[in-house]
Amino acid sequence: MLKRRRELILSASLFLALCAIALLGARYTVDYLLYRDAVSTGQSWTKYVANNLKDIETIAQGEMPSAESLSIIEQARQVGNVYRYKIFDGDGNLMVFSDHRQLIEYGDGKLGLNDAAAAKAMAMGSPTVAVKEGGFYHPAYYAEAYVPVEINGRRVAVVGTYVDQTEKREHYRTLFFYAALSIGLFTTLAFGIPAFAWYRRTQEKARADEQINFLARHDLQTLLPNRKYFFETLGFALTSLPANRTALALHCVDLDRLKDINNAYGREAGDYVIRKVAERLRFVARSTDMAACFGSDSFAILQTNVTSAGAAEALARRILDEIAGVCHYDGKQISVSGSIGTALAPQHGSDVTRLLKCAELALDRAKNDGRNCARVFTPDMAVKLAERMEVEQAIRDAIATESFELYFQPLVCLRKDRLVGFEALLRLPDGKGGFVPPSVFIPLAEEMGLIDVIGRWTMRRGCKIAALWPENLRLSVNLSPAQFLASRVSSMVEWALKDGGLAPNRLALEVTENMLLSDADAVLKELSRLKELGVRIVMDDFGTGYSSLQYLWRFPFDAIKIDRSFIDGLGGKQQNMEKIVSTIVALGHTLNLKVTAEGVENESQRKFLRKVDCDHVQGFLFGRPMPETELAGAILADFQKTMPKNVVQLPVKELPRQSLRG
Ligand code: C2E
Ligand code: MG
Ligand code: MG
Repeated sequence: MLKRRRELILSASLFLALCAIALLGARYTVDYLLYRDAVSTGQSWTKYVANNLKDIETIAQGEMPSAESLSIIEQARQVGNVYRYKIFDGDGNLMVFSDHRQLIEYGDGKLGLNDAAAAKAMAMGSPTVAVKEGGFYHPAYYAEAYVPVEINGRRVAVVGTYVDQTEKREHYRTLFFYAALSIGLFTTLAFGIPAFAWYRRTQEKARADEQINFLARHDLQTLLPNRKYFFETLGFALTSLPANRTALALHCVDLDRLKDINNAYGREAGDYVIRKVAERLRFVARSTDMAACFGSDSFAILQTNVTSAGAAEALARRILDEIAGVCHYDGKQISVSGSIGTALAPQHGSDVTRLLKCAELALDRAKNDGRNCARVFTPDMAVKLAERMEVEQAIRDAIATESFELYFQPLVCLRKDRLVGFEALLRLPDGKGGFVPPSVFIPLAEEMGLIDVIGRWTMRRGCKIAALWPENLRLSVNLSPAQFLASRVSSMVEWALKDGGLAPNRLALEVTENMLLSDADAVLKELSRLKELGVRIVMDDFGTGYSSLQYLWRFPFDAIKIDRSFIDGLGGKQQNMEKIVSTIVALGHTLNLKVTAEGVENESQRKFLRKVDCDHVQGFLFGRPMPETELAGAILADFQKTMPKNVVQLPVKELPRQSLRG
C-alpha cells in the first residue's frame, strides 16, 4: 500500500517536473527569439537610415542634418516599433538623438554623451545588441542595436536603434505558453494514458496476488488462517522465543459433537455453527494472538507473550465461555460447546510437532473428561505421548518390514457345535515378543492415514489364507471407518477376493456403527455395492452405540454380533442382562439376521446362549485368536468331530508371507 502511494507521488512529481521544464524551455525560447528579432529589426532599420542619410558622415562630424535627412529620420522614427534613433561619431559621442517624445536633437557633440556600446560597435566593426527590461522612458521590453556605418570601406558613424519589443514579447509568450500547454497535454495523454493503464493493471495484479495469497493461507469457510499458515506463524514465534523471553501457548480447540449437530439439524446448520465459533474465537484472540481453523470442527489459538501458566489457563477458560452457548439457526436452538487442550512453549516443547502433540494429548484428556472443558498438558500425558510415538514408529516399521501378523479366532455354530469360520484379527509385534493391542494401534493408524494400506494387506492376506480352508468355512474381516473415507472399499474387496481366489459368499465384513456416523449415506451406498458382490455384512459390537437400531432399519445387514460387554454381564449383578441378550437375539431373528455372541468365556454363558437360540459364538471358550500356523490343527480338530478316531487328514497348508504394498 505504502509502496503504491510512493509510486504515485513519484509519478506526479515527474509529471510536474516535465511541465516545469517545458515552461522554462518555452521561456528561454521566447527570449532567444526576441533577441534574434531585435537584432535583425535594429540592423535593418539602422541600415535603412544609414543608406538613406546622404550626409551621415558630416552629421557624425557634428554638422546639422540636411532637411531631407531630418525628414527621413523623422519618418523612420514614426514607422514600426522603432521608437528612438541615435547617431554617434567615430568615438561613440552622441550627435543626433531622435525620440518619439521629442522631434530631434543634434549638435557638435553637444549632446555631450559618450556611449560605450556605440564605441564598442565602432571599434569592432560589427553590431552590438542588448535586450532590456523597460523603465520610465522606455517601453516595458526593448532592444538597443548599434550598427557601424561604412562608406567606401571606412567606418564613419554608428547608428543606434531602439526597438520596442513589448508587444512581440507578449505575443510570443502567449504563443509559447499555449504551445507548452499543448505539448504538456499531449505528453500527458501520450504517456499518461498508457502509464495510467499500466498502473491500473499493476494494481489489479497486486490485488489478485493478494487474493490468491489470502486463499492459500485461509480456511475458506471461516476465513480464519488455515493449518499451514498457522504452523508457519507458530514456527516463527517459536524461533523468536528466546529473544522475547516470554512463553507462548498453543490452544487446540475442538467443537464438541459436530457430527451429531450435522445429523440432527443438517450439514448447513453444522456449517453455520462452525462459522459462529470461528467468529467467537476471532473475538477472543488479541491482535498479537492468532486464531486458526484446521478444517471442520478443529480450531487453534496461538497465544503470545504468555507471562505465566495462569494466563494461558485464563484464556482457555475465556475461549470455553465464548464458544459455549446456544446458536440460533433457522428458528432452531443449537447448543454448542468445545473442548480445549493447551500446551506451553518452551515448557512443554519448543518445536511445532512436539508442541502440537502435547496440545492434542491435553485435548484428548479434555474429551475423555466429558468434553466442554479445558486441560493443560501435564507430564503424565508426556508418558502417554512417548508411548504413542513408540507405537507410531512400530506401525511405520511394521509397514516397512512387513511384520504385521494376522491371527484368527474361531467362530462356532452353537447348535451343531461345529466351526463355521474365523475372524481375522490384526497383530502388531511390540518388539519384545508380545503385541501392541489393536485397540491402541488401530486408532493411531487411522489418525496417521495408514489404515488403508494396512486394511488392504489384511484383506488380501486373509482372503488368500481362507481360500485354502474347507469351503464351508467363512472368513470375517473388520473394516475401519477411515477405510471408507480413504478409498472405495468395494473395489479393494473385489480385487482381494479375485487375487486370493475366495468366493465372495465366504467373506463377511464386520463394520461398527461409528462408520455410519461420518457420512451415513455414502457409507450405506458403498455397503450396498459390497452386498451386490455377494459379500456378507455384519454389524459388529452391536448394542454399544446409541443408534444401532436406527441403522439396522436403514441397511439390510446379514448378521449382528452382540458386544462382549453384554455376554460378560450374563449371570452377573445386572439382572436384566439375560433379558437384553435374549431380546437382541429375538430381534435379530425377527429381522432374518444371524446372531453371533462374542466374548463367550464359560460354560454357563454358552448354555444361556444355546437356550435363547443364539446362532454363532466366538470367545476364549471355543478358541483364542491363533496364528496362521495353528489353523490347520484347529480345523483338523473340528473335522475330526465327524470322523472315526483313527483317520488323520491335513486340509490346510501355510502360505508364504505377503507384501503390504501388494
Ligand atoms: P472385534 O472385532 O470386536 O474383535 C473381537 C475382540 O474380542 C478381539 O480383540 C478378540 O481377541 C476379543 N475376544 C474374543 N473373544 C474373547 C473373550 O472371550 N474374552 C475376551 N476378553 N476377549 C475376547 P482384539 O483382537 O484385541 O481386537 C480388538 C478390536 O480391534 C476388534 O474388535 C476390532 O474392532 C479391532 N481390530 C482387530 N483387527 C482388526 C483389523 O484387521 N482391522 C480393523 N479395522 N480393526 C481390527
Ligand atoms: Mg470384529
Ligand atoms: Mg466386536
